[in-house]
Amino acid sequence: MCIFCQIIEKKVASNIIFENDRVLAFRDIHPKAPVHALMVTRKHIRSVNDLDSDDEKDISALLLAAKEVAQKLNVAKGYKLAFNVERAGGQVIDHIHMHLLAWPNDLKEADGHKQKEVMTL
Ligand code: 5GP
Ligand code: ZN
Repeated sequence: MCIFCQIIEKKVASNIIFENDRVLAFRDIHPKAPVHALMVTRKHIRSVNDLDSDDEKDISALLLAAKEVAQKLNVAKGYKLAFNVERAGGQVIDHIHMHLLAWPNDLKEADGHKQKEVMTL
C-alpha cells in the first residue's frame, strides 16, 4: 500500500487539516514553504496521467478542499496550487496529490523560504 493510502487509512500518522468522503488534506512532512499542505484523493490514482472521466468528482474535490484548507490556515489571500506529474515533473509519491503552498507576509522571512523555490518543488 502506498504511503498516502496508509495516511488515508490512518496507519501512518499525519497532521490532518481537512477531510471529507473523497479527499484528505494534511501538512507536508518536508515543507517547501511556510505553509505547505497536500490534498490527496481517497481513491488511489497514480498520477494526472492516469485520470479518466470516472475520476471527475474526486479531482474537483481536490480543488474544493484546497479552498477549505486555505481558509483554515489563514492564507486565502494568496497561495499556489501545483501537481507534479511523473518523475521528470518532480513526482515522487505515486498517488495523485495537489500541493498548496503559501508565503504569508508574517512568516516569509522568519522561515527562510523564498517564493522562487516553488519552481524546484
Ligand atoms: P511529490 O514530489 O510526489 O509531488 O510530493 C510528495 C510530497 O509528499 C513531498 O513534498 C514530501 O515531502 C511529502 N511526503 C512524503 N512522504 C510523506 C509522509 O509520510 N507524510 C507527509 N505528511 N508528507 C510526505
Ligand atoms: Zn495510494
